Amino acid sequence: MLPPSWDHQPTPVTAPTPDPLTPTRDVTHAHFQAGDTVVVLKGVVAGELWGDSMRVVAPSWHTPTDEDGWRLRDPTGGAQSYVTAHPRYLVHLSRRCPDCLIYLRAMEDALLARFADRDELIDCGWYTTTALGQLVHTADTRGSR
Ligand SMILES: [Zn+2]
Repeated sequence: MLPPSWDHQPTPVTAPTPDPLTPTRDVTHAHFQAGDTVVVLKGVVAGELWGDSMRVVAPSWHTPTDEDGWRLRDPTGGAQSYVTAHPRYLVHLSRRCPDCLIYLRAMEDALLARFADRDELIDCGWYTTTALGQLVHTADTRGSR
């Protein structure tokens, strides 16, 4: 399998799409550690998944879910270079990780066929960043937690 392309920078076309896997993904906080390189999947481009590549910096409370999260540094984030994310949003890039690869492949199976006829950068609209730098999945924005 060729590595997916994480470095595309054109402006994405937003195509709100249900996320079939991330909201129920079972991954512990301890699965990640400071220094890991991870990607937050955001969509599809030219038959591959894409997302934002970031560096895990330190443990940090993820207020939208009231659970342990990770502070991340986004080298291309500009004014929002640091965000806090829930572990289930993250996929390891820095080491071959069977757990993350299974998730990545399952996301590919679920999404690539849907956008097979599209070449542009598609943002599936799963994530927003709050004013306080919390990255939030659409599945975690509603509800009363
Ligand atoms: Zn992993």
